[in-house]
Amino acid sequence: MAQDPVIRLRDVTKSYGKGDARTPVLRGVSFDVVPGEFLALVGQSGSGKSTLLNIIGGLDLADDGVIEVMGHDYDKTPERELAGLRNGPIGFVFQAFNLLDHLSCLNNVTLSSQFAKTAKSINERGMDALKRVGLADFANRRPSELSGGQKQRVAIARALFGSPRLLLCDEPTGNLDSETGREVIEFFQELNTRDKVTLMIVTHERRVSSVAKRVIAMKDGLIVESIDADHPGGPA
Ligand code: ADP
Ligand code: MG
Repeated sequence: MAQDPVIRLRDVTKSYGKGDARTPVLRGVSFDVVPGEFLALVGQSGSGKSTLLNIIGGLDLADDGVIEVMGHDYDKTPERELAGLRNGPIGFVFQAFNLLDHLSCLNNVTLSSQFAKTAKSINERGMDALKRVGLADFANRRPSELSGGQKQRVAIARALFGSPRLLLCDEPTGNLDSETGREVIEFFQELNTRDKVTLMIVTHERRVSSVAKRVIAMKDGLIVESIDADHPGGPA
């Protein structure tokens, strides 16, 4: 039996602006992502990649179409439940790291559960996440004291803290030098192969898309190409 998709998109549309200024950004996007995929989403700046990723993560709303993530139909999912998916089964990693500098690295990692009562086990879990990215020794530092690559690893630890099954990454190596970027990509590969985390990475870097199992290309709000690494010329 075919596996249920992690992500199911059908005719997703999105415009920004009103009246004459209204610009379509997504013009009918449809595809599925199955469990364990490592998908790269490529395309020129302005093609709608970030908008699509944010919609899949429940950070932005589509105008129309079907968005189902891990069996949740977003049209029928209350905001409270969506909020539970974010920072939990759905993890995010952004180009600009999005860390809060007035907090320690550990508190950045555990931020999503700051209101929970069992602080000790939360900190233990936060330390586990920092250990996984090799930054346990930096738990009490501020993000501003870290290099770009270390910041991105803290941001990855923050995503891992919620034990994500799906990791959405928007140009995660865009602010990193090539060596650090390579390390981050290797870590994503390990998450995908060892921990079976489904990965969807927006990128315009060849070194990222070359390790993906499938590359989807967007242009002007539409999917224009889908290339499966195992079946390069075959049906998408
Ligand atoms: P990409 O990530 O592929 O560069 P984006 O999804 O960020 O593309 O943007 C697609 C288009 O939507 C761009 O033309 C951008 O200017 C526009 N856009 C994105 N976000 C907003 C917004 N919040 N308000 C208005 N326009 C936006
Ligand atoms: Mg973008």
